[in-house]
Amino acid sequence: MSSASSLASKLLRREILDLHAYHVPDSAGYIKLDAMENPYSVPPALRGEIAHMVAAAAINRYPDPAAASLKEKIRGVLGLPDGMEVLLGNGSDELIQLLAMALNKPGATLLGVEPSFVMYRMIATFTGMRYLSVPLTEDFSLDLPATLAAIRREQPALIFLAYPNNPTGNLFPADDVLQIIEAAQGLVVVDEAYYAFAADSFIPRLARYPNLLVMRTFSKLGMAGLRLGFLAGSAAWLEQLEKLRLPYNVGVLPQLVAGKLLEHHEVLLRQAEQIKRDRATLYRQLSEIAAVRVYPSEANFLLFRVANATEVFDGLKQRGVLIKNLNNGHPMLHDCLRVTVGTPEENAKFVAALKESIS
Ligand SMILES: *Cc1c(COP(=O)(O)O)cnc(C)c1O
Repeated sequence: MSSASSLASKLLRREILDLHAYHVPDSAGYIKLDAMENPYSVPPALRGEIAHMVAAAAINRYPDPAAASLKEKIRGVLGLPDGMEVLLGNGSDELIQLLAMALNKPGATLLGVEPSFVMYRMIATFTGMRYLSVPLTEDFSLDLPATLAAIRREQPALIFLAYPNNPTGNLFPADDVLQIIEAAQGLVVVDEAYYAFAADSFIPRLARYPNLLVMRTFSKLGMAGLRLGFLAGSAAWLEQLEKLRLPYNVGVLPQLVAGKLLEHHEVLLRQAEQIKRDRATLYRQLSEIAAVRVYPSEANFLLFRVANATEVFDGLKQRGVLIKNLNNGHPMLHDCLRVTVGTPEENAKFVAALKESIS
């Protein structure tokens, strides 16, 4: 009889054994500014409505597999061009996986830029898809000549661009992204996880490009706990991808609660506006600290660089503030930290703790 661990290492795919699990630290008791969550809760009246709805929900039944009512509400807030559809995912992470599975013909390549969202590489790895990355420039702009050259040379089947980018926070110039879409023979997915905090979107451009899909999530807008993301694009693509979606991937409660929240979309958008104002304040405060280099952001977080980032990260943690340490990740993020914009009180505590941790 072999032990479970020797059996597991014999039977599991090499790629899985080599993979590092996506690490989520325990955040209990901290001011939590590590995961781009919306710090505001749902207003009390709306909470009451949701409580009643949840109490009456038929959780003994499978959810509506088509999530027709929720999809209608999403279409309602989106202003989707004619002929465009949506496909729902259990978070947008699930949709990245679905796209990789759908486009992974033998030898097919997934292309990303780096540093960017780590799930593109991770999902390429565990779906067995060839992964290729093009480095951003030193200030985290797209290296357009290098990206276009890689597209011509490698003919990737699938390209992901986060717009704005995570963890750098910047919004690539729309014209650069358009040149990538035009040069690509494969499918380009513009990942708009941070759309609520940014000044531009590719949704109005969907109808012009047959190889373009836009992916969004409601996680950063205040529904991270519900797990709901979607792809928007032409029916020709989504009908095919729909075949891969597991029938009940969005549960009864997320369908109901997200639907109710979308009826009050303006509440969430007001919270996003507040976060954008507080981002500007926090940006100014960080740029006034001589030892900090802060990068421009159109998302609900700020990337910044300090000497000895890991020590500063630990100092913040000792003072009860949890942010994200990007040091020891991608080499271009050496000494970089990422802070989510919280409430004004949380931001003030973070800034005070940061000053103490630096000196
Ligand atoms: C947070 C994030 C996602 C994943 O969001 P979920 O819907 O919560 O899975 C996708 N893309 C980017 C760029 C993100 O930052």
